[in-house]
Amino acid sequence: MPEDCIFCKILDGSIPAKRVYEDDATIAFLDINPRNPGHTLVVLKRHAEAIADMRVDETGRLFEAVKKVADAAKEAARADGISICQNNGKAAGQVVAHVHVHVIPRFNNEGPPSMESILQVKKLADQDLGRIADAIRASIGVESYSPREEMRMARKEKPEKKEEKKPAKEEKEDLDDDFEEFSVDDL
Ligand code: AMP
Ligand code: ZN
Repeated sequence: MPEDCIFCKILDGSIPAKRVYEDDATIAFLDINPRNPGHTLVVLKRHAEAIADMRVDETGRLFEAVKKVADAAKEAARADGISICQNNGKAAGQVVAHVHVHVIPRFNNEGPPSMESILQVKKLADQDLGRIADAIRASIGVESYSPREEMRMARKEKPEKKEEKKPAKEEKEDLDDDFEEFSVDDL
């Protein structure tokens, strides 16, 4: 374990924490700077910095614990919903470099929900969406059809009917209001 890792220190008991759950793979304790009452961190016991450093079986164990903690925190905080957030790397806002999942109770009367509070929606051309989807599929090693498309083809279903398009002018105004210009060439 790295000597300066706060979560490893909580794990070995040298730093106190309000522990709420533990099993052989994970531990959960309250966040010291709660975004809402019941904000809990679910932490992998083995020191791994980010999701890329985890074994697949560990991701399964971590999410089993997240589900337990999320259900319990929702009930205990009498929350209306739960946000589950997991940051990887400085660019994503990760401050503690020991993999952890935030379980945050949410309430109907509070500010912008979920991802809207983190990032603005980007306006991406269909062609760019296709390129980024291809790149992700290639990285995973998936053929060019999505599993959903494959299922539809296997059942010989017709493609889903596309939503009716708004008149061009109205659509452009909506986009200009709500979206940030973005291109995959910026990546
Ligand atoms: P992240 O930005 O995803 O790395 O989140 C790190 C979280 O760890 C922050 O929400 C901190 O408030 C929380 N944190 C840092 N030190 C402690 C600590 N000693 N006990 C509990 N939570 C902590
Ligand atoms: Zn650690």
